[in-house]
Amino acid sequence: MTDKIPTKDITPKKSKSERVSPTLGNVDEKGTLYASRKHIYVKRVTGAFNLFRKVSSWILLLAFFFGGFVNYGDRQALLFDLPNRQFHVFGTTFFPHDFMLVAWLLIVLAFVLFFVTNFVGRVWCGYACPQFVWTWLYIWVEEKTEGTPNQRRKLDQQPWNGEKIARKGAKHFIWLLLAIATAVAFVGYFSPIRDLLPRIAAFDLGPWETFWLGFFVFFTYLFSGWLREQVCIYMCPYARFQAVMFDKDTLIVSYDEKRGEPRGPRKKSTSLDEANLGHCIDCDICVQVCPVGIDIRNGLQYECVTCAACVDACDQVMDKMGYPRGLIRYTTEEELAGRQTKILRPRLIGYFAVLMIMVIALSVAFNNRVPLELEVLRDRNQLLRMTPDGQIENSYLIRIANMDQREHTYQLSVAGVEGVELQGSGVYTLGGGEVRQFPIQILGDPTLLPQQLRAINLELTLQSETDERINRTRESRFFIREAR
Ligand code: SF4
Ligand code: SF4
Repeated sequence: MTDKIPTKDITPKKSKSERVSPTLGNVDEKGTLYASRKHIYVKRVTGAFNLFRKVSSWILLLAFFFGGFVNYGDRQALLFDLPNRQFHVFGTTFFPHDFMLVAWLLIVLAFVLFFVTNFVGRVWCGYACPQFVWTWLYIWVEEKTEGTPNQRRKLDQQPWNGEKIARKGAKHFIWLLLAIATAVAFVGYFSPIRDLLPRIAAFDLGPWETFWLGFFVFFTYLFSGWLREQVCIYMCPYARFQAVMFDKDTLIVSYDEKRGEPRGPRKKSTSLDEANLGHCIDCDICVQVCPVGIDIRNGLQYECVTCAACVDACDQVMDKMGYPRGLIRYTTEEELAGRQTKILRPRLIGYFAVLMIMVIALSVAFNNRVPLELEVLRDRNQLLRMTPDGQIENSYLIRIANMDQREHTYQLSVAGVEGVELQGSGVYTLGGGEVRQFPIQILGDPTLLPQQLRAINLELTLQSETDERINRTRESRFFIREAR
């Protein structure tokens, strides 16, 4: 797919939309770049794809706003506890040590995106991208407070009066409430939401919470209320690089030029052959419903988020005119050219194969993950100490991280050398997600240790008493004598 510049050359006939439409993408009517933005008054559309988008949007909105209230066990199911560097995900606690798993997960998600984009195009943008879901929500509020596109246009053009202040004030007030709710829900994934809400009501927030709440209120309001499609067109990197994932068999929203042209107004009873007309009646409704303000009849454009609003709109026109549906439809370049669309093709199979390899690698890595971390640090102040009964004592600090959600009791043991033993029981009990440090001493019998060596290696093993698969072994040094 290329970034097509809609000019007179591309379309067989200049459409009404080009005469009166908002700026088409980032190019103005004279074909110059850096055109100033013109507000898009999006018209509401009904239809199957609109219903599908509404359902997917509501699922995402409900999941986002109420996901923070879902508990798993006695803890918030999704909680990214940055101060304690613990990430709780449905009963599993991840620590910074699990960075490799996160890296694998990101690679898997990247390949899911490549695969899905190659297969069904920008379905993510049209139905699931948060920027677009929130933009539709803000447009819906605008429609409820300011009316239809024509009423909104008139309101913007008229001088300020009581009605304009009331309507605009109501819109911005609701937008702000939505932005606040979004910010609270988002921060609630990083600071437990049930604790956050009463603290917001009591104005008892920490500096970082205050900063991030303000940040998300501002950017939700700005991106969804003011910038809208500009974010997709100018700021989203996916819009720019998705073209390399497309091929001629990728599902796209496209206008069937062969069927639609020559376009032009006519009566329902007009004979198409006699009037030399195609099926497009040049009503411009497909442009009026487009949230990014483009005319799909000008060909595939990178601004198109494949929301299919134009498909729903045009199908209704086709129904009224008694023409078959699908003048604008989900199709492929191959199908438009009269060839068969290939579902199985090398690039798609390649993406799928790599995706499967990554998923298997991630599953193996996750399955082999041991929810326990052990660090052993030597006492740096003193290499060794002789006890009153003639034993050599080395001191260490161990740090245990129970990365499980359950409480565990662990047994620490020392191995590797004869004549060395741990002082004390070496039993430690840690709650789920708990991280603690313990000082330990290891004693060595000088009569059993090799006197020619200054230090020896030993292994410290921490073993869960309830789950034999959970254990960690670390190496450290045991000093037998001071340096000469
Ligand atoms: S909605 Fe359909 S008929 Fe109307 S201008 Fe668009 S393509 Fe043509
Ligand atoms: S051209 Fe059609 S599918 Fe593309 S963004 Fe506009 S309305 Fe949505």
